[in-house]
Amino acid sequence: MRFRWPIQVRLRWCPNCNVPLIQDYCGRCGSRGFEVKVSPPGDVRPVFSGDLEIIKESLENEFRDHSLINLLGIDRGLVLINKVPHYDDMKEVIVGGVVVGRYFFDPLKLKWRWRLSMYSAEVAVGIGLVKSVVVDRIKPLEVVRDSNDLEDTQYVIVDRDGNILGIGVVRSGKVRVQTIFSKNIKTEFISKPNSLQDFIRSNDLMLRILISRGIKHAYVMNSKVRLPVTISYSGGKDSLVALDLTLRAGLEPKVVFNDTGLELPETLDNVVMVSNHYGLELHEARPDKTFWEYLDTFGPPAKDFRWCCKLIKLIPLAKLYKDVFPQGALNVIGQRGFESIDRALSGRVWRNRWISHILNITLIQEWPQVAVWAYIISNKLKYNPLYERGFDRLGCYLCPAANIAEYYMVRKNYPSIWSLWEERLTRWAERFNLPESWVRYSLWRWLNPLASGRRRVEVRCLGKEFRSDWVLEYERRLGFSILSKELKVNHVKLVFSIVIPHDSLINQVSLLGRLSVVKNVDVLELHSDDYVIKLSRNILEVSIRNILKTNALDLVSRVVKVITRWLRCVGCGACSLWCPNKAIGLVDGKPLINNDKCLRCGVCLEVCPVSEVLVSKVLIPIITGSLSRTTEVITSRKTPKIIT
Ligand code: SF4
Ligand code: SF4
Ligand code: SF4
Repeated sequence: MRFRWPIQVRLRWCPNCNVPLIQDYCGRCGSRGFEVKVSPPGDVRPVFSGDLEIIKESLENEFRDHSLINLLGIDRGLVLINKVPHYDDMKEVIVGGVVVGRYFFDPLKLKWRWRLSMYSAEVAVGIGLVKSVVVDRIKPLEVVRDSNDLEDTQYVIVDRDGNILGIGVVRSGKVRVQTIFSKNIKTEFISKPNSLQDFIRSNDLMLRILISRGIKHAYVMNSKVRLPVTISYSGGKDSLVALDLTLRAGLEPKVVFNDTGLELPETLDNVVMVSNHYGLELHEARPDKTFWEYLDTFGPPAKDFRWCCKLIKLIPLAKLYKDVFPQGALNVIGQRGFESIDRALSGRVWRNRWISHILNITLIQEWPQVAVWAYIISNKLKYNPLYERGFDRLGCYLCPAANIAEYYMVRKNYPSIWSLWEERLTRWAERFNLPESWVRYSLWRWLNPLASGRRRVEVRCLGKEFRSDWVLEYERRLGFSILSKELKVNHVKLVFSIVIPHDSLINQVSLLGRLSVVKNVDVLELHSDDYVIKLSRNILEVSIRNILKTNALDLVSRVVKVITRWLRCVGCGACSLWCPNKAIGLVDGKPLINNDKCLRCGVCLEVCPVSEVLVSKVLIPIITGSLSRTTEVITSRKTPKIIT
């Protein structure tokens, strides 16, 4: 499903000065800019030397020739790139007011490639770089001729008058239509010399508006709340601009950096360097245990299994803010609406419900990326050199939300760092008998084997879907399995592969309700007016007396959360950190609740990464037998289908 962006940069171009505009009229000559059609949200940025290297590599890989880089004007003046939706990384290149092509990462061949645009197709045919094929009319995916050329060779498709209609690509000896160009695409290239400085002068009004709005927002919010000011500095461009604007508002923020242990060295250096440069106090939030230690319990993180965000980001930050800023703080974040749909829908002031005493604000919510770079360059801010190397996104270098192109960049620039990660992935794959392609094509980025993104990569890279035994894979993550199960409306019975200690329930009994405990050597029974929970060695049974008041699956999922976190506790301390009544602590690495103090609010269960991530994402699907059923779904009263 393709999402519709709620906001978009209206990219214009001055026909006279040859500069991009983020306002309607050019600030230098007064000309009205014409609109440049780019992919939404159109958050363009200038290219750096690393991007130019990638573009050159893509042209070499595609045509064994990179003369287009000069012929298209990519090697001089102001060149913009813009992200395009793609199953991996793809960017369009804009020069002289025209989209001159797209470079993309081919995850099958593990290399950068180039796709011609209408403008570059004409240039490429003109210098004999590609062949053309004449057709009367063009239809999507139609075969237009046979070809002995190599797989993926591009052909330019033209009509009898020589008008360019589209691009064909060789697949299995046939040239098949790949792209059909719109007749309305503007291909009038402006070749007047330009630079980022010209952009700054031509967009002076809009840049001033953005800057003054940002500074004013910081100033007004500070005078309203009168709290210590912090800046979440990540070593990235957006937080750098946010930091500079905060200082210009006359505030003196403390720098907060979340060192996940998965940052590249330049980012760590930049954080220290920027804090020292501005003379600001630096506070670093680090997890108690490393990502690598948690990895043994949870396995590789995935887009649909982001346990690490909780363990190496949220929990360390919450601890730091609680310890250092117990009275609260006004926290400035370098968040922009064009970064993601979620951020586009976010306001300029918000609270995170898990660190609710901190008030977050952004000063650059409506800033396009090109304005961020204009600000950084014109104010000579000390930005992270990773951007120069072509890195787009900083932060955790192995993040499952990244694409294969980014891993390729890390591997190329930091071979020893990447090989450590690949080694861990390979070990994991061997342990679970997963094919080598699971590592090579980064299929670990999805936990759920039916995730549409994973299936798309499988089909493109392997030519087929690779079906894993997900129950086995999930059970191995848990370290135990469910041998059998009975699911009825008033009774659920689960047989585990291991004996469940009674202590796992007794020590956390208040989380399961007001219960009387009946215990003998092998059997533990917990009774309430509405239900009975019975644990006998490896057998767990839940019997409901009143199905209108208690949902059996809801209750059993809570019980297995309680049991599993006792068995697999990673000692992160989130439960005691967020408990409102200091009723829970860790004893010998296991959670222990003081039943007299416990308020039965369930917060400690909600924040626990084992119960919320491992159980919800891994154990519940095994119990329900369906990958699509998570706790949220089964606890809904609208799912009677599972009742037998
Ligand atoms: S690797 Fe990605 S998912 Fe994990 S903590 Fe970092 S940003 Fe979050
Ligand atoms: S968080 Fe709530 S349920 Fe958990 S121990 Fe504390 S008071 Fe009890
Ligand atoms: S029980 Fe507490 S310490 Fe253990 S994993 Fe859960 S939240 Fe962390």
